Amino acid sequence: MAEDWAYFEGDYVPISKANVSIRTHALNYGTGCFEGIRGYWNAEHEQIYLFRVREHFERLHRSARALRMSLKLSLDELMEIAVNVVARNGFQTDVYVRPVVYKSGAIIGLSMVRREGGKTIFLPDDFFLFAAPLGDYLDLDEPIKCCISTWQRIDDNVMPARTKATGLYLNSSLAKTEAEENGFDEGIMLTGDGHVSEGSGENLFIVRDGVLITPTLADNILEGITRSTLIQLAKDELGVDTVERQIDRSELYVADELFLCGTGAQVAAVGEVDHRTIADGNAGPITSQLMKLYFDIVKGKNPKYADWCTAVYTTEVAAAST
Ligand code: PMP
Repeated sequence: MAEDWAYFEGDYVPISKANVSIRTHALNYGTGCFEGIRGYWNAEHEQIYLFRVREHFERLHRSARALRMSLKLSLDELMEIAVNVVARNGFQTDVYVRPVVYKSGAIIGLSMVRREGGKTIFLPDDFFLFAAPLGDYLDLDEPIKCCISTWQRIDDNVMPARTKATGLYLNSSLAKTEAEENGFDEGIMLTGDGHVSEGSGENLFIVRDGVLITPTLADNILEGITRSTLIQLAKDELGVDTVERQIDRSELYVADELFLCGTGAQVAAVGEVDHRTIADGNAGPITSQLMKLYFDIVKGKNPKYADWCTAVYTTEVAAAST
């Protein structure tokens, strides 16, 4: 079987050739940042559409800036690389694209800078991108079960919470692992002052009295692209407003509807939190309508939002996969 392609050290290479040294700073200290982008296979169009790929690369640039990392590739160059890697692999399925900026220096020591001749020199950065087939990350057939995590969401004064820093994901990984070990699908993390922040890899919404409510950007959440997509769709397509405000833990228990959203998770209804059934335990009306809208749009089936979908195959799929 032909090997998958990746982009590594400025070139397209077979993925088995895309390897880093065990001395890499990012591997030892978590000094990297990344994105997760979904591509949806539309069999009718024989096409894969990358969803809001520009916005993902804008966030990657913002993460890199906040973390003192240098990403020299422009948005257009990054988009071209993402398209090329998916197209070269010839996928005909839903995929996940993973770009990473990382401190590539092979240096022991925490600092990302060193002083030389009175000058401050930054450790070198590099960039790689790979893609892989990915189905549903959370169950979409029936509402999922969540717990409140015993792990607090990282505070913005501990690590920049609005970035997708690789090191930051130890926090998420511990919360997700704890939830699954205890028989739940997902863990919801609270802020240091006890308000709802987000899932281990998803933003969170509740519905109360026909209004959507979601934690503010100051509640240590990632500035989610799905979150802002759904806020816009709710307003423009359903006439439902979203209030961004703090949410208490117990407000989750009494919500009319609750769902998590993210690139990986997509839109996932939550039927239970800490063993309390949310409303009647089924996906509520606003959640269901948002799910339907979202899945049509990401698969390239809604022309109104075609701008959000970047086609991967410019020539025929058969040609691209040879
Ligand atoms: N929060 C966290 C911690 C995440 O990892 C993700 C996934 N990127 C999200 C929220 C959702 O963000 P997005 O919708 O941009 O994928």
